[in-house]
Amino acid sequence: MLDDLRLHRHLLGKTGSRAELNTPALAIDREALARNIERMASFARSTGVSLRPHSKTHKSVHIARLQIAAGAVGICCAKLGEAEALADGGIESILITSPVVTAAGIARLIALNARMRDLAVVVDNPANVAALAAAAAREETLKVLIDIDPGVRRTGAPSISAALELLESIRSSPKLEYRGIQMYCGTQQHIASYAERADAIADRTQYLRTVIGALSERGAAPTIVTGCGTGTHYIDASLRVFNEWQVGSYIFMDRQYAECDLANQPTVPYEYSLFVEATVVSANTRGMATIDSGIKALSTDGGLPVIVSGAPAGATYRFMGDEHGAIVDPAGRHTWSIGDRVRLAVPHCDPTVNLYDAYHVTTGETLVDIWPVSARGRSR
Ligand code: PLP
Ligand code: MN
Repeated sequence: MLDDLRLHRHLLGKTGSRAELNTPALAIDREALARNIERMASFARSTGVSLRPHSKTHKSVHIARLQIAAGAVGICCAKLGEAEALADGGIESILITSPVVTAAGIARLIALNARMRDLAVVVDNPANVAALAAAAAREETLKVLIDIDPGVRRTGAPSISAALELLESIRSSPKLEYRGIQMYCGTQQHIASYAERADAIADRTQYLRTVIGALSERGAAPTIVTGCGTGTHYIDASLRVFNEWQVGSYIFMDRQYAECDLANQPTVPYEYSLFVEATVVSANTRGMATIDSGIKALSTDGGLPVIVSGAPAGATYRFMGDEHGAIVDPAGRHTWSIGDRVRLAVPHCDPTVNLYDAYHVTTGETLVDIWPVSARGRSR
C-alpha cells in the first residue's frame, strides 16, 4: 500500500488537470463535496442533533476531518479495520456500527480502545457481551450500544425482551459502559416515494419509542439514540427520536439516491460530488463507443452509472464486462473519437469507492489534490 506522500508523488507529479487523469479514475468535485458537507452539518445543527457521519461511504481520513471540521461529533465505522485506519489518521471519536465477535477482533478492539479518546461498539448478543466484558476486565472501560433490529434481521436485538437481556448483561459487566442504542433502518432509506418512506420510517420509529420506554422503565434511558441515513434524515428530524445521525451517502450522492424523492424536501437536495472518469478506447460503430470502465471500475449492485459529460443528452451506459462499458446515443448519430473523456456519476457510492486507492480531487478542470482511500479493503 502506498503511503500518502508516495501516492502524491506517484500520481500528482504526472497529472495537473482532469483531462490528463489516468483512467478509470475516481474523482471528487471539491466544491460539490464541500456544499454537501455543509448542508447536512447546518441542517443537523438547526435540528439540534449530533452528526456522526458514516465513513463506510468514503473510507477517508481526509473527508472525516472535513466532516468533523464542519461540526460532526465523530465518525461511524462499519468495521474494526476501518476504525483502525481512521484512528491511525487521528480521528478520535468512533462508533463501530457492526458487532465485533471473533477472539482476534475483540483483542484488536481492546487495543484500539486503549489508544483512543472515545471508542464505542454495538452489541446484539449476550455471549458477545460476555466476551467483551472478559477481554476488557483488566483494560480501559469499553463503551457499548445495544443494536436494535428494525425488522430486517441483519443485526440487532430481535425483540424488546432481547434488548433488556442485553442491558442486564452489560450492567453486570463492570468494564462495559452502556451508552445507548442504535437502530439503522437500511431498507427504508431507498423507498423512492417520499410519502411512503415517511410512513415506513414513522412505523419503525414508533417501535423504537417502545424500546426506549422499556429501557427507561429499568432506569436505562439511552443517552445516545443513533441511526438515520440520507434517505430518511429529513423525516427523522421531525420525528425527534434519534439524537445522533449516521448519514453516509449524502456527501457523494449516487444514482440510487438520485432516483429517490429527496428533492421535495425544503432543504436543498444533495448533489453528485463523486465521479468515475473514463476514456473512449474504441469508436468503430456510429452512435456508440466503448469506454475503459466496466465491472472493475463501478459497483454493479446499484444499476447503471449516469453519464454526466462526454455524451449527448439521453445517452446511456451498458456494462461490457470486467474492463469495458458501452455508451450509447439513443438517436444513433453521435460519433466519438478515441481518447474522448466521459464523466460518470456512480450507481452506488460506497462499494465503488472501495475499488480505488485514491480520490482525484478536482476544481473545474484542475486536479488540486489526491487523497488516499485510507480504509480501502479494511472490511475486517
Ligand atoms: N448506518 C449504517 C449502519 C449503515 O449500514 C449505513 C449505510 O448502509 C449508514 C448508516 C449510512 O446510510 P446512508 O448511506 O443511506 O446515508
Ligand atoms: Mn450504500
